[in-house]
Order: sequence, then structure tokens, then C-alpha cells
Amino acid sequence: MRQSDMKILVVEDDLLFQAILKDVLERLGYKVVLAGNGRKALELCQLEHFPIIITDWMMPEMDGLEFCRTMRANPSEHYSFILLLTSYDKKDELIAGLGAGADEYLVKPFHEVELAARLKAARRILDLETALKQLALYDQLTGAYNRGYLDRQLSKEIQRSWRYGHPLSIIMCDIDHFKAVNDVHGHQAGDQVLKEFVSRINRTIRFENDWVARYGGEEFIIVLPETAPAGCLIVAERIRNVIAGSAVTVPGGTVPVTVSFGAITIENTSRIEEMTMDAILGKADECLYRAKETGRNRVVAVQF
Ligand code: GH3
Ligand code: MG
Ligand code: MG
Ligand code: MG
Repeated sequence: MRQSDMKILVVEDDLLFQAILKDVLERLGYKVVLAGNGRKALELCQLEHFPIIITDWMMPEMDGLEFCRTMRANPSEHYSFILLLTSYDKKDELIAGLGAGADEYLVKPFHEVELAARLKAARRILDLETALKQLALYDQLTGAYNRGYLDRQLSKEIQRSWRYGHPLSIIMCDIDHFKAVNDVHGHQAGDQVLKEFVSRINRTIRFENDWVARYGGEEFIIVLPETAPAGCLIVAERIRNVIAGSAVTVPGGTVPVTVSFGAITIENTSRIEEMTMDAILGKADECLYRAKETGRNRVVAVQF
């Protein structure tokens, strides 16, 4: 996140100190939101996420320590780095502040340069969090979602489909004779084909709703929410054509690539109990197997 896009929540009851801090932070390039006590700050944190929060200790209604404890007891999806800025300067007070959940402790009156340096350190930690989240969600080679994300998100999509009675389509695809690509052109060329495959899929699906995950080595799952069988078939055929239509360029040549597809659409809500994620993927796998058996480079689709 760029510094100019980063909002800092300042929690402080002293209006003069609020104004000083706001001025300093804005000069450092941050956007500032103000709250007069911990209770008010919690309300703001319900509405939006603040990557950095600077909080006073002594405040009416809810003090800084209780605010820290409440924030840490209810962790949100994204981390908030909390800096406790207080006139309490004893060692046991610092220990109590960090114990309540603050990440950093600074004593008033603060030095502007020191505050700037501590905020920079905070941003390094937040950047690490972002990098870790990337690793947790995405396959590093292709940029598709990874298997963990697939398992979590697909069950949610299935539940949503039941709840609202909307169709959900899932396409399992597997590159044909991919072992031969590695054997003939080398493993790096194989990797290049996998990347290009995902890139072509992403250019073909609707990016707002549809998504693709790496299921295994050269197997991918494409999830199409709110998509009925006819639409699913169109998408699968379009991807099949986009892959088979032009060879992939690799160092030292080009590789013609084809892919087989097993597609399944669920839309019959009366069979809810049968529709576990494993059962659905199992059906897609059967279709994929039939596509392979009947000549590859084709789509076999069913409805659940
Ligand atoms: P089929 O048409 O029946 O699917 O044949 P296939 O050769 O594609 O299937 P098989 O399962 O025998 O081979 C899959 C190959 O995918 C073997 C494996 O080395 C390769 N593979 C898996 N992951 C990667 C990867 O990340 N990079 C590369 N280059 N190859 C991979
Ligand atoms: Mg105060
Ligand atoms: Mg395979
Ligand atoms: Mg294969």
C-alpha cells in the first residue's frame, strides 16, 4: 500500500494534541481519521479497516488499554498495527501497554522523526502481512488461486448456491499429454505452458465473479457462480478454443497445447444432502475422465 493511501486512526481525547498529531501525520503523507475515545474508535473500526492506529491511554468512556484488548479479542481479516502514545513513561506501564495488545509504545511529548521511523517500521510489518496473505491464497507459479483457497471458497459457493437456489458451474480441466511437453521441451517450457494456460483462462472468464484455482500439477478448477449449463458449456468451449487455437511460445520454439474438460452444473436444490464438495468434484472428475477417454481436447458436461 502506498503511504498516501494509508489511513491512520488517531484515538485521542485532548483536542489540542489531536490537532498536533493530525498535522504531523498529514505532513508525513498519511490520511488521518480522528476519534475522541476507545469506544468511538471501535465503532469506526467496525465500518472500515485502519492499518495503523495511534491511541492515547487515558481517555473517557474507554481508555487505550481496553481499546487494545477489545481489538485483539476480535481480530478482523486484516491486521491493525497499534501504537500506544501516552504520557505514562514507566517501565511497568510500557509492559502493561504491550500486554494489552499494542505493537509499539511511544511517550509524549514525541519526536516527529522518531514517530516517522516507528511508522515506517509498522509499514514493514504490514507489508509482510500482505506478502504472507498472497502466499496463503495464490499458486506462486501461475497466479491462480491455490488448493487451500479452492477448498475454502468452493464450499462457500456451494452453500450460497443452495441458499439462494442459483445455479453454480464448476469446470475441471487437465492439460493433455502434458508429460510429453516436459519430456520434449523441458520442465521450464512446461512451467511456461502452465502460466500461459492460466493467463488465457483469466482473459476468457468474467473477472468479477468467475475464478480459477490450481487443483493439482496440471489440473485446474474454474468456478462460475450463477451460471446455468448452457453458459457453462459456452465458457468451457471458449477456453478450449482459446488454448487449442494457438500454440504457446516457449524459449526455443512453440508448443501446441490442448486441454480436456469435465464440467458440472448444480441447480437442483432438492438434492442438497448429496452435494458435498467432494461429490461434486468427483462428478466433474468422471466427466473429465470421459473427455480423455473419448479423444481429449473436448468438453464433457453433466448436471447434478
Ligand atoms: P493426460 O492427457 O492423460 O492428462 O496425460 P498427461 O501427460 O498430461 O498426464 P500425467 O498425469 O501423466 O502427467 C502430468 C504431468 O504434469 C507430470 C508432471 O511432471 C507434470 N507437472 C505437474 N506439475 C508441474 C509443474 O508445476 N511444472 C511442470 N513443468 N510440470 C508439471
Ligand atoms: Mg488522554
Ligand atoms: Mg493430470
Ligand atoms: Mg494431463
